[in-house]
Amino acid sequence: MPGRTPGLCSPPTLADVAALEPSRYVLGASRAYGGSLGDRAAEIRSDETAVDRAWADQRSRVLVVGQGRALLDDSGLVLLTSEQAPDGQRILLGRQPGGGFVFAVRRDDAGADERAHSLRSAATLLGADQLGVLMHAVALANWHETHPRCARCGTATVSINAGYARRCPSDGSEHYPRTDPAVIVLVLDGGPPGEDRALLGRQASWPPGRFSTLAGFVEPGETVEEAVAREVAEEVGLPVSTVGYAGSQPWPFPASLMLAYYAVAAPGHRDDAAVAVDGEEIVEARWFDRAGLADALASGSLVVPPGISVARRLIEGWYGAALHSGTVWR
Ligand SMILES: [Zn+2]
Repeated sequence: MPGRTPGLCSPPTLADVAALEPSRYVLGASRAYGGSLGDRAAEIRSDETAVDRAWADQRSRVLVVGQGRALLDDSGLVLLTSEQAPDGQRILLGRQPGGGFVFAVRRDDAGADERAHSLRSAATLLGADQLGVLMHAVALANWHETHPRCARCGTATVSINAGYARRCPSDGSEHYPRTDPAVIVLVLDGGPPGEDRALLGRQASWPPGRFSTLAGFVEPGETVEEAVAREVAEEVGLPVSTVGYAGSQPWPFPASLMLAYYAVAAPGHRDDAAVAVDGEEIVEARWFDRAGLADALASGSLVVPPGISVARRLIEGWYGAALHSGTVWR
């Protein structure tokens, strides 16, 4: 990645990351929040008659999304009946536990409605279950909005399979939604349980005092563990000796899947002097012990990411309890 200072540490090799150990800290669930509908009704997607019947079920509900936005009211997501739903592209999201189905209708003008909220805004207002459904809907809607044409010939494609694929009418090719894997990692110093320290970094675009975990995209041809080691080396100049999976979170801004890890800095690279930020992506990085983190949060000199984020969950997983950050990160 550009901006890397050569020679800070050796590039990670397969040998560096092959000896994986289970992490001491694992997120409580495999997901950072409640998640989407458990039953996505995938078996009926390609059956237009069955999808039409699901739409016509009087118990089915419809949410309206578009351009990264969704309609909310005081009770949460605006859920319409099929008859109330506006025209637009239909996306089948799944079965409701109590009967009927949930659809999204994607409209380019969804953002013009006075009830429209951005996904980030909705995330602060919705419970985990509704947020999971909305992440699912927005992830698919984002893909349709940004991939309207065939990658082979440029012809406008059409949505098929209830919104889970697009087909080119010219050459018959089918195209599928993208999910871009990204790693998010909390680097630890390998100290004794309860006394180990965590490294938090500040991105160049953030104001002083705002810190979080490190993150970056997985590159083609790379394992996730190699991506963790590479990103940590690039951004803060540290080799890591252990990489442990902690959980995941869909992050449709516009199409990411965040894969969360704890990593332990290699022996000899665990003090302040070992940290060498790249100066481009990360401009400041500091080791925090638990008491120092709590004090900095209480004083307002430190702001960490909001509760919905997997970054926050990583930090709290290490800390051992929920954190109370006085300043809201928007
Ligand atoms: Zn084509």
